[in-house]
Amino acid sequence: MNRTPDAPRMAQTTLARAVTLSGRGAHGGKPARLTFSPCDADAGVVFGVAGAAIPADWRRVDATRLRTRLAADGVQVSTVEHLLSALAGLGVDNALIDIEGDEIPAMDGSAAAFVAALDEAGIEELFAPRSFWRVMAPVRVADGAGWAELAPAQSGLHLDVEIAFEGPIGRQRLALDLTPATFRRDLARARSFGFLRDAERLWRAGLAIGATLDNTVVLDGDSVLNPEGLRFADEFVRHKMLDVVGDLALAGAPIVGAFRSYRGGHALNLALLEKAMRAGALERCGGRGLARRRAGLSASP
Ligand SMILES: [Zn+2]
Repeated sequence: MNRTPDAPRMAQTTLARAVTLSGRGAHGGKPARLTFSPCDADAGVVFGVAGAAIPADWRRVDATRLRTRLAADGVQVSTVEHLLSALAGLGVDNALIDIEGDEIPAMDGSAAAFVAALDEAGIEELFAPRSFWRVMAPVRVADGAGWAELAPAQSGLHLDVEIAFEGPIGRQRLALDLTPATFRRDLARARSFGFLRDAERLWRAGLAIGATLDNTVVLDGDSVLNPEGLRFADEFVRHKMLDVVGDLALAGAPIVGAFRSYRGGHALNLALLEKAMRAGALERCGGRGLARRRAGLSASP
């Protein structure tokens, strides 16, 4: 079949081989080592931490302040959003991620190092049809001036993110259709950001202890403290969209719909996903069950 690399994949994918990377967590500041490994169809993305398996699933989220943390069997893995964003952005459905430590390394604060690791591993198609979550009805959540919503769309995931901050960030808005090509070009390199004035308060809360100019764009008044400056004039909204992709990946399969947010963040993204799931606004389509039904076979376990 003559297909462009950007065409939507209809088969599930995993990695072609294992790959390891290491760094430090942005919040805890401790060293961590990750190994991405291939796995079977329908396994999804699973974190292996201290002998426990934590699925990348919205029902496992136990903290959303400034990062997304998952927990299962008394074990936690923190700051999963940029890694999950890279997997979802490149269309990897199934992977095992073993981690030594309790936080995903920050790398340069973007998803670039994870994209490079996944490219090194290679992506392989499995003999299993992909499933999707199709948005059937609009869902909206709000918190103060911020809001986020999901609405039905014909195909793919359309993202429209707007942020509003004081100072040099101001209002920034970005809209795009998520594909591996747009993810690589427009989102993957956008870094986390923070304000110097918040640093001491965050440190007291045990957050951002590992944040440095090597993994965070730091703003002080009207200036960016990083000597290299910004990677995009609107790097901030691009990073917020990168976070959205990682948070929505906790649905467990790609979403077909239109996402929009204004002054959003991890808490709003996850509240939206949870509301959509609980309200039945997302319908699972495709996958093995559907293929069996189409083929007239019974849906055996
Ligand atoms: Zn982020």
